[in-house]
Amino acid sequence: MKYIAFDLGASSGKMMLGSFDGNRLDTEVIHRFPNCQISANGSLYWNFLGIYQNLIEGLKTGFRKADGQIAGLGMDSYCNDFGLIGKSGDIITQMHCYRDARTKRNRDKIYDLISEKELHQLTGNQNALFNTAIQLAAMIQQGDGYLLEGCETLLHLPDLLAYMLTGERKSEYTIASVTQMFDYRTNLWHKEVLKRFMIPERILAPIVEPGSVVGHATREMQSLLGTGGFDVIAVGEHDTASAVAALPALSGNPAYISSGTWSLMGVETCDFFTNETTFKYNIAFEGGVEHRYRMLKNVMGLWIIQECRREYQTMGQEYSFGELAALAAKEAPFKALIDPDWEEFYEPGRMLEKIRKFCSMTGQKEPETPGQFVRAVEESLAFKYRWVMDALEEINGKKIDCIHILGGGGQDRLLDQFTANACRRPVYVGPTEAALAGNFLMQMKAKGEIRDVLQGREIIRKSFDIEEFLPADQAVWEEKYQYFKTLLKSV
Ligand code: ADP
Repeated sequence: MKYIAFDLGASSGKMMLGSFDGNRLDTEVIHRFPNCQISANGSLYWNFLGIYQNLIEGLKTGFRKADGQIAGLGMDSYCNDFGLIGKSGDIITQMHCYRDARTKRNRDKIYDLISEKELHQLTGNQNALFNTAIQLAAMIQQGDGYLLEGCETLLHLPDLLAYMLTGERKSEYTIASVTQMFDYRTNLWHKEVLKRFMIPERILAPIVEPGSVVGHATREMQSLLGTGGFDVIAVGEHDTASAVAALPALSGNPAYISSGTWSLMGVETCDFFTNETTFKYNIAFEGGVEHRYRMLKNVMGLWIIQECRREYQTMGQEYSFGELAALAAKEAPFKALIDPDWEEFYEPGRMLEKIRKFCSMTGQKEPETPGQFVRAVEESLAFKYRWVMDALEEINGKKIDCIHILGGGGQDRLLDQFTANACRRPVYVGPTEAALAGNFLMQMKAKGEIRDVLQGREIIRKSFDIEEFLPADQAVWEEKYQYFKTLLKSV
């Protein structure tokens, strides 16, 4: 059967046509478009209708290429952002971006209602201001709670697109699970959290499982697209859930890094738990397909390099990501190291200056050339992965055998090799379009073409190239890791 998958990231969206012949999954890109945050009137928004328009355009192309024979559509995106539907069925608010500052402004008042520690214990999620619960609590604190009282339904971004296509209002499990409003004990919305934040439970839609049909395209949609009917399928709507669904590992105890703007490093667990250590490391438990939990930690990721590249661009120096990595490869090793999660790196802008500042504060020689900056960031990211791996092993009491790198960041081969060296584990890279691949798997499950995600992972191994990187230069990497750890405590 043929399927269409839609994957939206903070800077771009992509749609693919996937054909499954019972053995292999073949994929083809059918539409790409830019996405960006829009700053207006002191707030940060997404252009949601622009996203919708691109979805329609991609669907038209996909149907044309597949001669109208599309069994399903699945959509995934970053998590936590939402729209509100009024009594008329209209979307009644602009969609804020998770980086909007209303949460930061109201932070103290929000955490007075439920402390960070208790929130982590209740929900198993990491504490982050971008969580939906915190966004809603901020709305209420700044006097916009009437919008919640007055609306009928809150839907997360992919669920809202599904509503526009089918008229159905459903909340997909993986994206609901990371809102800090979800209760893993009952697999329903978290009554206690909602009550304490004063968020009306009635606006939250019923939960649906990934791998199930949400609804059928409406007649209006069919005529807009010039097609017959098709199903909209709930996939792992949180992009990380879809990416990890496509993990091409069949046995052992692998870790994964979903690598892109952020690096999300973790392991799969069959249960969730919280304790002092998970709170100390701000570990997240996120709901995955077939209720496999992702126990993971956010690392700042390739964001720092993206920002360096942008800064060189403003100085008239154009480098592709591949060129930056090639320059870094030519530099001498271990000239300078940083903690990628130093909070000053989170905000956009002045990244070169901030790296220099970190180095001078820690008594290291400051990088000067693009290659030196990028090498410092990549070696440091690899060491941070090692540090997270050690923490995951400590919490689980179980050795990690190998590391899988999923997503676009896997194309950074220097970082792939550094990760193997720093972690002293074999590293397997691919698929680079993991979220779209995992999105297809859950559609295939909904249509009865595969039994479960494990069978799906076998198909991923057969359908995509997976590259291996073996650890090298271990003694020197080990020695430098001991030094790196001192940096984490020193700023
Ligand atoms: P996002 O998290 O924004 O969806 P992707 O998964 O699409 O990101 O990954 C894209 C990122 O991967 C780029 O921003 C860049 O940092 C990195 N990248 C992509 N290709 C290369 C390359 N050839 N060499 C080095 N880094 C790369």
